[in-house]
Amino acid sequence: MSETQTADTSTAEHLQTQYTETDLRCRKCQSIWSPPVANVVNLDTHPQARDAILRQTMHKSRCPVCKTEVAIEHIFKVYDPEQKLLVQVRPKWEFNAGGGEEIYWKRLEDLILKHANDDIRVDIVFGFDEMIEKYLGGQAEVEAAMARAEQERAEHKAPGTIAIEMAAARKQARENTTA
Ligand SMILES: [Zn+2]
Repeated sequence: MSETQTADTSTAEHLQTQYTETDLRCRKCQSIWSPPVANVVNLDTHPQARDAILRQTMHKSRCPVCKTEVAIEHIFKVYDPEQKLLVQVRPKWEFNAGGGEEIYWKRLEDLILKHANDDIRVDIVFGFDEMIEKYLGGQAEVEAAMARAEQERAEHKAPGTIAIEMAAARKQARENTTA
């Protein structure tokens, strides 16, 4: 078989994992620090992000002084090349703060225009729970991710290691069937 050349959105630069820094102020002790946050996570190159969302550990940080845990409010996009799907994750309160539906359609239109040249579907969710329910397999996947977390702790592996190993194995299996 000859190789086919297709426009591959999975390699597009604006769909790669990107980080930035955000300034936080601790509500308890007023310390200021700048943890990294993701603007885009590409689930092909960073499968551990899927587990971090399922475990609700993504975009959490601890005050370096008093160790208070802070949930970082940061709008980001999850790109899944396998499903050709891009989901913008917005804060949960935004939808409930009034005009939720209006915000949804307005932001969705912005997103569609922004990705008009990408061969992908786009959607918006408000909060991790909605993301998990709608796109990551719901409670069953949360439990599987929690079991992986437990295994990682038992085996002294870094969080997300098993997700990375699983993704690599699936990729290998795909390559074997197409070879
Ligand atoms: Zn603090």
